[in-house]
Amino acid sequence: MTTEAAQIPRPLPRPSPFSRPFWEAARRHELLIQRCRACSAYIFYPRLNCPECGSRDLEWMGVSGKGKVYSYTVARRATHPAFAGRVPYVIAIVELEEGPRLTTNIVDCDPDSVRIDMPVEVAFEDVDATTSLVMFRPATR
Ligand SMILES: [Zn+2]
Repeated sequence: MTTEAAQIPRPLPRPSPFSRPFWEAARRHELLIQRCRACSAYIFYPRLNCPECGSRDLEWMGVSGKGKVYSYTVARRATHPAFAGRVPYVIAIVELEEGPRLTTNIVDCDPDSVRIDMPVEVAFEDVDATTSLVMFRPATR
């Protein structure tokens, strides 16, 4: 990492009242997703109403953390100055076994080895004392 990149703060999530349980769980290295009690749909991103049936009766559920690469790109030029020391890196949409899709990074592998439908599992990156990011890596089983 260059000295310049090290001095530029990395953009971090700012949890809202709706997303706070997701980020608190990530800090514990748990992946929680909302689920609708009325129609059982899994929901991501966090929100107030079920996008399937409109119900506000939502709960937070632990999910498997397993999924597959739905789409991806390899960033060879940093998409933010703070990421300059990280190129090349993979920006991906991962489809969880439970259905929802998350925008994330694929880590712990050669970026050029990533493929559509590749099985992946959740991996947490501890950024600072309060924030952990939800990443994915190639599935180990
Ligand atoms: Zn619903």
